[in-house]
Amino acid sequence: MKYALVTGGSRGIGRAISLRLASMGYPILVNYVSNTAEAENTLRQIRELGSDGELIRFDVSDQEAVASALNGWHEQHPDDYIAVCINNAGIRKDNLMIWMESAEWAGVLNTHLNGFFQVTQPLLKNMLVKRFGRIINIVSLSGIKGMPGQVNYSAAKGGLIAATKALSQEIARKGVTVNAVAPGFIRTEMLDGLNEAELKKLVPMGRFGEAEEVADLVAFLASEKASYITGEVISINGGLYT
Ligand code: NDP
Repeated sequence: MKYALVTGGSRGIGRAISLRLASMGYPILVNYVSNTAEAENTLRQIRELGSDGELIRFDVSDQEAVASALNGWHEQHPDDYIAVCINNAGIRKDNLMIWMESAEWAGVLNTHLNGFFQVTQPLLKNMLVKRFGRIINIVSLSGIKGMPGQVNYSAAKGGLIAATKALSQEIARKGVTVNAVAPGFIRTEMLDGLNEAELKKLVPMGRFGEAEEVADLVAFLASEKASYITGEVISINGGLYT
């Protein structure tokens, strides 16, 4: 059986992606780091859609924890493989660089960039052997244009965009695609504390996006229909110039 793993599937964009992939028939591995109640909530909604899944708790920035969780899953599922990997887990630790603490820099880089490597690398072999895989990295407008106050986050997402392009070329012949989706402002808890009324004036469509709109794009990239798209960065931002 082919599974889909969604890192950061407990809330926000990751939850919407989990539900959308579940409605395509994938059993979902819902990863999260601390919010068990919301992860269980996602799993309940997956089951309400008639699909199934499991919670798989680990910190994507902790290489040993990732390896132990994925090895444990593979041991329990010798006949299954993770065919779709959505690298979505993320945090913000915004600060002007002049004030930025080393921990703010390292925390964001470790989560987004090391997390991508640590989660994706152990899944590649099965995808290549089975000659089908979909790796979709959730990046950001910040990783394309750079955002003041987010040197750490912009660097992490920019690095992830470059990794997407490089990896896509390594494995294109094996039926495994690697793409990035770059949202603008999407209404989730990650944007708590930002002034939506002011910021939405910057968006040509005049509104923030919804997590479900991002999930629809991810679902297309995960589908058989997107088999000739790889190494791409697709923006979804209501018309913000990138
Ligand atoms: P939320 O803050 O709503 O959710 C973050 C999710 O990531 C939660 O499920 C959280 O788990 C999980 N998470 C955080 N750190 C880790 C970790 N170390 N290991 C495992 N899971 C972790 O964020 P969004 O849904 O808004 O963001 C999702 C992705 O989209 C991120 O990569 C973000 O950078 C990107 N993005 C978001 C935009 C937006 O406007 N919202 C814009 C552009 C990009 P838990 O519930 O356990 O805390």
